[in-house]
Amino acid sequence: MKPSARAALLRWYRRQRRDLPWRRDPTPYRVWVSEIMLQQTTVAAVAPRYERFLSRFPDEAALADAPQQDVLKEWSGLGYYARARNLHRAAAEIVRRHGGRFPGEPETVRALPGVGRYTAGAILSIAFGKREPLVDGNVIRIFARYYGLAGSAKDAALQRECWSRAEKLVPKESPGDWNQALMELGATLCAPDAPSCAICPLSRDCTAFRGGDPEQFPAPAQRRSPVPVRWTCLWIEHKGRVLLWKRSEKERLLKNLWGLPESQRVPAAPGRKTATISHTITHHDVEIALREGSLRKDASLPPEASWVPKSKLRDYLVSSLWLKCLRASAAQKR
Ligand code: SF4
Repeated sequence: MKPSARAALLRWYRRQRRDLPWRRDPTPYRVWVSEIMLQQTTVAAVAPRYERFLSRFPDEAALADAPQQDVLKEWSGLGYYARARNLHRAAAEIVRRHGGRFPGEPETVRALPGVGRYTAGAILSIAFGKREPLVDGNVIRIFARYYGLAGSAKDAALQRECWSRAEKLVPKESPGDWNQALMELGATLCAPDAPSCAICPLSRDCTAFRGGDPEQFPAPAQRRSPVPVRWTCLWIEHKGRVLLWKRSEKERLLKNLWGLPESQRVPAAPGRKTATISHTITHHDVEIALREGSLRKDASLPPEASWVPKSKLRDYLVSSLWLKCLRASAAQKR
């Protein structure tokens, strides 16, 4: 990229950047939490939740000290709960091995649970001012268009090419601003559809813009067809408590989370159907037939099952899928 284009991009960023909560006071902890939350979740969904999470867990020690279920509850509705569990595990590691201070060495940061090359690049460049590159979907789209690179965003060869270009481009001075400028351009002007090339600081030298059809870059990836998942789940209620089920590490979906029991897992007779719940989790189309259930006489419960008072259900059922079931069940009882 020409020096003039790089300078134009930085000028544009410093003038136009959005005032996002994680850009104020970019400490390593704040940048880390924001980057983990922003993986697979939109800025609009993360912004209102971010400060709440930080006031609940203001630093690494507070996060490490909290029970995992409290962290999952605070994450409720953001999806991809492995992120919250990794955040919690990494906080414990920071306290145990690094005296509670977020480490600033690239190897150590990349070794933290849930921190990949991209997230490490973001934390190190933004919070520590280190000359570390980053590449995400936004950066791949910009580079594919600017340089006219072939391949889809999922192609390993295109990703390697983008990382190699990013390594060369990231400056010694203000690497965090440079990386954020790329991400900001991808999130605002260089959008996947209808990019705003007319006001883009890179348009002078952008190959795709000059070719007249920037949306052709990167090439479309082969779409995975959605996998249907059908469950019958039971609402089993007794003396103001509801039977919940702790899903295991081996589950395909919603691993390690509490949920309503699937009918085949508990010794219960399914009764009246009360709702059909539809929900998408990654590329799975989940449909739940929610039924009332009653335990068979003298049934002994497996260790994964537990009775939870109705007033405490929201502390356990953190996924949006189960929250939909809760709402449907409450609506039935009105
Ligand atoms: S000119 Fe258009 S396609 Fe090229 S980088 Fe800018 S917004 Fe993206």
